[in-house]
Amino acid sequence: TEEKKTDQEKVQIKIPSQPAVFIPVNRSTAVQEARLKLPILAEEQVVMEAVRENPCVVICGETGSGKTTQVPQFLYEAGYASDGGIIGITEPRRVAAVSMSHRVAQEMNLPRQVVSYQIRYEGNVTSDTKIKFMTDGVLLKEIQKDFLLQRYRVIIIDEAHERSVYTDILIGLLSRIIPLRNKKGMPMKLLIMSATLRVEDFTDNQKLFRTPPPVIKVDARQFPVTIHFNKRTPLEDYTGEAFHKTCKIHRMLPPGGILVFLTGQAEVNSLCRRLRKAFPFRRGNTAEDEDDDSSESMRKFKKAKVKKTVSLPCIDLDSYSALPMDEGDEDREAGVGDEEDGDEDLDLGDDPADGNEKADPSIPLYVLPLYSLLAPEQQAKVFRPSPPGTRLCVVATNVAETSLTIPGIKYVVDCGRVKKRFYDRVTGVSSFQVTWTSQASANQRAGRAGRTEPGHCYRLFSSAVFGDFSLFSEAEITRRPVEDLVLQMKDLNIEKVVNFPFPTPPSAEALAAAEQLLVSLGALEKPPQRRTVKEMQRAQLSCPITALGRAMASFPVAPRYAKMLALGKQQDCLPYILTVVAAMTVREIFEDIVVFFLVRPAHSDEENSKITQRRARLTQMRRLWAGQGASLLLGDLMVMLGAVGACEFACCTPKFCEENGLRYKAMVEIRRLRGQLTNAVNAVCPEVGAFVDPKMNPPTEHQVLCLRQIVLAGLGDHLARRVQAEDMLDPKWKNGYKTPLMDDPVFIHPNSALFKTLPDFVVYQEIMENTKMYMRGVSAVEAEWIPQLLPQYCHFGSPGEVPSPWFCSSSGTVRCQRSSTFFRVGWPLPAVEM
Ligand code: ADP
Ligand code: MG
Repeated sequence: TEEKKTDQEKVQIKIPSQPAVFIPVNRSTAVQEARLKLPILAEEQVVMEAVRENPCVVICGETGSGKTTQVPQFLYEAGYASDGGIIGITEPRRVAAVSMSHRVAQEMNLPRQVVSYQIRYEGNVTSDTKIKFMTDGVLLKEIQKDFLLQRYRVIIIDEAHERSVYTDILIGLLSRIIPLRNKKGMPMKLLIMSATLRVEDFTDNQKLFRTPPPVIKVDARQFPVTIHFNKRTPLEDYTGEAFHKTCKIHRMLPPGGILVFLTGQAEVNSLCRRLRKAFPFRRGNTAEDEDDDSSESMRKFKKAKVKKTVSLPCIDLDSYSALPMDEGDEDREAGVGDEEDGDEDLDLGDDPADGNEKADPSIPLYVLPLYSLLAPEQQAKVFRPSPPGTRLCVVATNVAETSLTIPGIKYVVDCGRVKKRFYDRVTGVSSFQVTWTSQASANQRAGRAGRTEPGHCYRLFSSAVFGDFSLFSEAEITRRPVEDLVLQMKDLNIEKVVNFPFPTPPSAEALAAAEQLLVSLGALEKPPQRRTVKEMQRAQLSCPITALGRAMASFPVAPRYAKMLALGKQQDCLPYILTVVAAMTVREIFEDIVVFFLVRPAHSDEENSKITQRRARLTQMRRLWAGQGASLLLGDLMVMLGAVGACEFACCTPKFCEENGLRYKAMVEIRRLRGQLTNAVNAVCPEVGAFVDPKMNPPTEHQVLCLRQIVLAGLGDHLARRVQAEDMLDPKWKNGYKTPLMDDPVFIHPNSALFKTLPDFVVYQEIMENTKMYMRGVSAVEAEWIPQLLPQYCHFGSPGEVPSPWFCSSSGTVRCQRSSTFFRVGWPLPAVEM
């Protein structure tokens, strides 16, 4: 009510819009004392005054200054959650959303129903929730359901300096929502919190905020950190260098925790093993999981009956699930891919320890890994005091850079690198590359050493190299495909995405490529033909969304997969397509495949033979899952389906996963995602009545055929054709495939189910570049499906033209009058009846 008053009396006298209430919080003395030490506490008045006076406020403060844990509490106490409103806080990482909600609940002595979290797969939000931590993807989904976010009184965008794509989009959207809410007399506040001072993209951006929001700088009580540069910069073995440095610190320097920054999970685990070996620490045994017969469950999955097949074509492109999207079910989880950091690699579980460091093992080192794919209980360990008489050593990826503050760190060892996914917009090839981090991020890492007392940071690179680092990390939006964002925005009825107030806009080409893909998937209407190039371009950049597009936007997966889901109800394929899509969306389900894409440290002969043996077993399992004949042609997707099927028949135990080279956490996530996607399909198309029994029988041959067609309809722009005889002269093309957009060959990976089959046409999930360009997630396609299921990519000859020779040789019967070729590349395709 008193916010309303402000609105009305704007023209008259300015009255202080003090919240009417002060909500007392009952904190323990220990918590109260700890809080008082946090720099942000000194700024409480300033922050609250600014929030009262301005619709949007920016807060900058060093990591650990108390932004995430305290600002929501200030707002709560000032009554911002007292009249039924909610204080929402978004985090780019799931880890942070979960652990910060726990921490704040604990500090405030409030139950989890009141201080809650929501991430893509889980949450504990209730009708009593007053403070809600969530991933940025979750809030974006909520905006789709309620553009005005009426349940919220305040939105805090945390970790804005990370410039995650969803954070950027949210800020853009909120810059529009806030004035709308004001106009409607239900004002909402926006707080943007950053760990760096570089906030001009938000403040000095006329497109975003007409009056620049005030910036409050929190003086961190940071103790001095002495920086030690290496004389030389190890180019390869920085993990080894980190090992030696950590050993040295532990043996020679006074007590204080050590935090080591590496780039990915495999490195983290490998260093943890080496350190544990060098400085053993006896830990409690963890209970083993119950017994389980894996071969038995595999048999059950395989034995379930298989029916004979019918012929093609089976799927109908015009039969998709779509309903007007006026309302959805309130509790459906969201998250358009709220992914975490760059821990994309996995780990083979073998120990490359050389143990040649002559360590004094008398003081045990309490070694803990920290990365985003780590189970939450394991992550939580870093906040607990280390056992008496030990020194804490956390080996982390960049999750420890700003999102989580680990207590008691005095020494930081920084490899200076970060793993990032790079994406080539033209070819669609992605690769993970370890690159130098930015100066801002190296300084953040160093700062972790000076939270409680003066500290030291050991940089495993020279000061000259540091001088060459870029100053800041660039916004993620500039280096990833944006089709999912464009679809989400179109679903919000933002037709001209180019005009959206992005803090950093993606390139015009990226936006155009996204629209093009969405048009070809049928999610956006085809732009009408225009006369001039300029007119054409303008039309292409403002295509409205279709009914199919709305359905696709409601599925929390990327557009290509969403298309598959939309088509999935046909021929009882839905349970399978849900599973395949879930498996393709979850990060690496097989433990070893990604390892291939990494340079691993050298192993001993014995270790190598162990690895070879394990690989052989995993390959064998994969063959079993892929099956023979018809099902084999679904290729790697059949392997995924078989793996999930077998795993569910084995009740998804960690032991089964371990034995069969599956990543347990991924399998659990797939199960959840299957449930979530089922709900999403049901919400769009209730008459389908989708229901997923985790234990499903293998698909029939006919269903496999349909699945392959559905996959083709979704991955049409990822078609590759086996190299033709004429190209074979060049040895680099041996067993290669040609794609429409690349000059160089791509290959089927030796791990793939189709490695030996080499079908004429395949579709792939993505191309990863390593020693060669490899396709991942490969599935075989019949040539005659292409003109029927991907007419948008085909060029059709005039009726009556002689069918192409290809057609006659590949299947015998002529059903067609029009020959066709696959778009720019002109691959001859079977003719079709049109
Ligand atoms: P910022 O968001 O500014 O980086 P935080 O609010 O996250 O700062 O952290 C403030 C303080 O709270 C830090 O000293 C941190 O160590 C402490 N803290 C945060 N989470 C936990 C936790 N789960 N257990 C113990 N201390 C924590
Ligand atoms: Mg924080």
